[in-house]
Amino acid sequence: PVDCPSILNFSIYKDLRIESITSTSSIEYQIGDTVDHWSPFITDAKSITITLKDHRKTGKPLTLVFDYEGCIHVTSKYEVNRITKEWIEIGLYAPWYPLLKSFVPATFDVIIHLDSAYQVINAKRSEEGIFEAHQTIPQIDCPIIASDQFRLCNIDYQNAEVKVYYTQDEYRHEVEVICSCVESVLSSYEAFGKIQSRVFSVVIAPRTNGGGYCRSDLIVVTPDEERNEADYFRFIAHELAHLWWHEAPTTSWEDWLNESFAEYSALMALRQKFGQQIFLERIIECTKLAKGLPPIIGLSRNDEKAHTVLYDKGPLILNQLEKSIGRKEFIRLLHTIHVQKVTSTQKLLDVVAQETNAKTKQMLVSMLRSKRD
Ligand SMILES: [Zn+2]
Repeated sequence: PVDCPSILNFSIYKDLRIESITSTSSIEYQIGDTVDHWSPFITDAKSITITLKDHRKTGKPLTLVFDYEGCIHVTSKYEVNRITKEWIEIGLYAPWYPLLKSFVPATFDVIIHLDSAYQVINAKRSEEGIFEAHQTIPQIDCPIIASDQFRLCNIDYQNAEVKVYYTQDEYRHEVEVICSCVESVLSSYEAFGKIQSRVFSVVIAPRTNGGGYCRSDLIVVTPDEERNEADYFRFIAHELAHLWWHEAPTTSWEDWLNESFAEYSALMALRQKFGQQIFLERIIECTKLAKGLPPIIGLSRNDEKAHTVLYDKGPLILNQLEKSIGRKEFIRLLHTIHVQKVTSTQKLLDVVAQETNAKTKQMLVSMLRSKRD
C-alpha cells in the first residue's frame, strides 16, 4: 500500500467480459478493446488500466474486486490455454484472472466447480464437485490443470511428495525418465538438510505445441522423444531445489538467495549424476553470459538483466565460493544456510564469516558488489 503506484496495469483474456471493478478506494478504470501485445508469451489478452484517485493520501491497503465472466478458447499460437473435455489448462499465457503487468507475486485462493470425475492438480476436493486450491508461496501465476484421465506415479522422499501426472500410456517412457531424475535430484539435495512437508507436481501435458513451464510447486512438460535425460534433469533439478531455497523475498535482489542457490544446487546435482564435463560446460557458458552484468547487491528485480544476473552470474559466484573453501566445506555451509533459514544477504554474510573466515566473507562481498566476473 505504501509504494503502490497510482496507475495499475492489468491484462485479462480478451473474451472475458468485465461487469464491474470496485474498490475500497476511489478508482477509475478503462478496458482496452484491442488485443494487447506487451509480451510475446501472453497472447489474446486485453488491457485494464486502473487509476487510483486518492490512494496515496490514505495509505491504507487497497482492495480491488473484479466481477467478470466468459469462456476461454484454445489459443491459436501456443495451445497452452484451453478448456476441452479431456484436458483443461489455464494460466497466465491467456490470463483468466486479472494479471498485473508488473508480475507482482501473490498467493491465489481458487474455488473450482468441476465434475467429480476430474482431478485438479494441486487442488483438494472439498466436497462433491468442488475443488479448492490455496497457494502458500507467492507466485506470478495461477495455473489450473485438470483432466478426467489422469494416471499418477508417486514418489515419496522424506518430506517431499512428488506426483508425476500423465494421461496416456504412450507417455510411460517419459514418466520413467522423470521419476528417475526426481529420485536422484532429491537424493543429491539430502545433504542440505530436512525440508518442510511439501507436495510437488510434474505434469506431462498431452499436447505437442506450447512447451513447458515451471511454477513454485509445479512443472509442466510436453512429451518429446528427442529430449534426453540431462535436459529433463536440469529442468527438474532447479525447481526441486526451491523446496530448500524459497524463503528469501522474491521481489528484491535478495531473490538471488532463492534463484542463484536453486540454479547452483541444480548444477551440483548435474555434476554428481552426469560428471564434471557437463558441469564445466555450463560454468563456461555462465562466465560468458555474466560479462558486464550489474552487481547482485542493489539490483532492481525489474532490471531487464535481472534474470541472467540471478541465473547465470549468481551461480558463478557460488561456484567461486565453492572452489575457494572446497566442495565438502561448501556443502556443509549450504546445510547451515538452509537450517538457519537465511533470508537476507546480511545474515548470509554473518553465517559465512562464522562458518568459514573473515577473508571468505570479504571475497563474497566483493563478488556480490562487482560489475564484472
Ligand atoms: Zn527458480
